Amino acid sequence: MIIAATVLETAHGKFRVSTHGVEGSPERCLTMSQGDLSEPGTVIRLHSSCIFGEALLACDCDCGPQLATAMQEVNRRGSGAIVYLYQEGRGAGLDLKIEGMERQRLRGINSYQAYDSLGLPRDLRDYSLAGEALNDLGVAKAVTVMSNNPTKLKALEELGYTIQSQFALSYEVSQRAYDYLLMKQVEGDHSLDFGKINFVG
Ligand SMILES: [Zn+2]
Repeated sequence: MIIAATVLETAHGKFRVSTHGVEGSPERCLTMSQGDLSEPGTVIRLHSSCIFGEALLACDCDCGPQLATAMQEVNRRGSGAIVYLYQEGRGAGLDLKIEGMERQRLRGINSYQAYDSLGLPRDLRDYSLAGEALNDLGVAKAVTVMSNNPTKLKALEELGYTIQSQFALSYEVSQRAYDYLLMKQVEGDHSLDFGKINFVG
């Protein structure tokens, strides 16, 4: 059910925002949406929170640009919804995410290997609250998904949605930012998926 709702003006457009939850549970997720969501093929994204990438502009992931691009895409179309799920560290929480990051830093391993070494499943995310939120918003059962994550696509299908189409988000960086990111990849231990970044001169 919708717990609270308002309208938010952002750098990426004006969105309806609301929190969603289920009776008797303090757990919440947030949605940002625009326009009519009942049309089949409406665009959606299930976005997992990443305070480092989104708020602190960390350079070792693309969560911030992904969220910004998803908001821009909804705004460009004039309709769509982003479900923002509090799933730090693929659902492990911020404490374990940071412990994993420290193991990555000290041992030169990737985040999946770090989770293995902590005895954690590689992905602990649960999408039931996303289903609640999509239902609250009256989103059509046939959707277009902004994601190339097969786990999220499967979760949506299990929630009763048909994936009409899906696409990976891409985003652009300036020459200066591109050079900076490339330098950090070469000189530092930052990993970036350049395949998803469109260079603009
Ligand atoms: Zn991130």
